[in-house]
Parts: sequence; C-alpha cells; structure tokens
Amino acid sequence: MKIYFISIVLLSFILRLQSQKLPLVLNSETYVFQENAEGFIIKEELLTHIQFLASDELEGRKTGEYGNLVARNYIVSYLESLSLNVTLQPFSFQRKKEKIEGINIQTVIKGTDFPDNYLVISAHYDHVGIGKAVENDSIYNGADDNASGIAALLVLAKYFQENKPKNSLIFIALDAEEMGLQGAKYFVENNKENKKIVLNINMDMISRNVDNELYICGSRFTKSLENYFKSIAEDAFPITAKLGHDGLDGKDSWVNQSDHYYFYTNNIPFLYFGVEDHPDYHKPSDEFKNIHPDFYYEVVKFIANTITDLDSKIK
Ligand SMILES: [Zn+2]
Repeated sequence: MKIYFISIVLLSFILRLQSQKLPLVLNSETYVFQENAEGFIIKEELLTHIQFLASDELEGRKTGEYGNLVARNYIVSYLESLSLNVTLQPFSFQRKKEKIEGINIQTVIKGTDFPDNYLVISAHYDHVGIGKAVENDSIYNGADDNASGIAALLVLAKYFQENKPKNSLIFIALDAEEMGLQGAKYFVENNKENKKIVLNINMDMISRNVDNELYICGSRFTKSLENYFKSIAEDAFPITAKLGHDGLDGKDSWVNQSDHYYFYTNNIPFLYFGVEDHPDYHKPSDEFKNIHPDFYYEVVKFIANTITDLDSKIK
C-alpha cells in the first residue's frame, strides 16, 4: 500500500516535471478563433498540391532519387512564386554502408513585431520510394505520409505571406525523415546557435481519419500549451482535436516518430499534428484517392488558425 502511494506521488511528480520541461510563455492561454485563417486557405489549391506530390510521376519521393528531386523542384518553384527567398540545406549521412545526400528546403517570413523569435513550421517531403508490389502496385505514393504535410506547408506559406506574422516563421520541408529523421536532425543541430526557435509545429500525416480526429502531440510537455488546447470548445471545429500520444497517456508514443523529435531532444517546445495509423500506412495504397478531402481541409484551417492565434500570444 505504502509503495503504491509512493509510486503515485512519484508519478505525479514526474508528470509535473514533464509538463514544465519545455517552457513557452503565452500572454493568454485561451484558444481564440481567427477569422483570417478561415478565409485564406483555398481547398482547391491544397488538393492540387497533394495530388501532384502523391502522383506516380514522383515515384514515392525517396531521398536521393529522381522523384524526390521532382518534389523538391515543385516545392521550390511554388515558394518562389510567392516571392519568397528559398534556401537549400544539403546534408549527408551514413546508412548501412552507403553515404546518402539529402536536401532540406527552407524559407523565412519575417515577423513584424518580434523578428528574432522563430516558429518553425515543418513537414517532411520524402517518402519510401518504389518497393515490393502489393496488388501490382509498387509505387509507395505517400499521399498522407507526407504529401499532406507538405501541401499544407505550401498553403500556409502563402497565407502568412499575405497575412504577416508577428514572430518570424521558418517554413522547412525536411528530407530523409523516413531514413531516421535525418533532415530534422541536421536542421536543429545546425541552427540552434544562431536563431531563437520558440516553437516547432510539425505536420506529418494529416489528411485522413474515419473518426474525424486529429491528434496534437507535444502539448503535455509545455504547461501553457496544454492549458491553451484544453480551452478549445468541443464544437468549435468540425474536426475533433485530441491531445495525446505523448508517452504520458498509455497510448503508443509519437514523440520520437517524426521530425519534431529533434526539437524535443534539443529542449524546444513542439506540437506535432497527425492522425492515427490507417490501413494504407506505408503501403502503395497510400494514394491521393484514399485521403479524406473535407477532413484534410478542416485540419489545415485548424492548423492555420492555431499558428495565427499562437503567434499573437507569444511574446
Ligand atoms: Zn511521415
């Protein structure tokens, strides 16, 4: 009984420590609906991006291969068409006996009030390429994983180019996530000295869920973010935003499952937006025709709203 009591006390202590691990100060912890985010995100544009990025022509966008280059060219030309300055960040890493080259793509939108604070909006553009055929299809298109995150990143870059943020935003399309979060690792380890990154917002698999549920992982490590998301009224959005998968709630932990992990290990607050795995996860059938366009559109508007609102609250 005594041991039981001690472990409860210990557990609650650990949980409290965890929730203070990555501090972020907000001038209000109440979630507010921002009208702009609703009006500026155009569904057709979002769907055009994801459809192209997940098409067979891109051959599954594997790092170092032709389809990955086509995806990169698409991302770069779209961002440049918004009059944004795009920088490529090449890196290399060892995989088994092979040396592999990856390239991150980044652009910055300067903040109007706090230009030296940076929020990093990230998504990985690589996928697993061509592999073992399933029902005569060998192209692993990665529509949900993660053409969905990149298409969202592109429309968000357009939205914030038209509605300037208060803090600076770094948009980064990361490479080699599927080979062990290599692009994120390189980015974080090569930027932390120079720029004050206050928050990472990572999107990976956001375009489908039969229950209309989007998970937000990471808020439990930052008290202000936890309070903030808990203040969302249940019927505020057509989708349900749930907190969890953070290793603290008994569900499988997503903390190390995508690029936000290297922000976490470098003590940067993060929010990871993603859905539960589906039957097409890492299969050739993760295709454009299997995403849920209405859900996806609502998710992207929700993320745009969240970034806009958080940007107005971070000092
Ligand atoms: Zn992914």
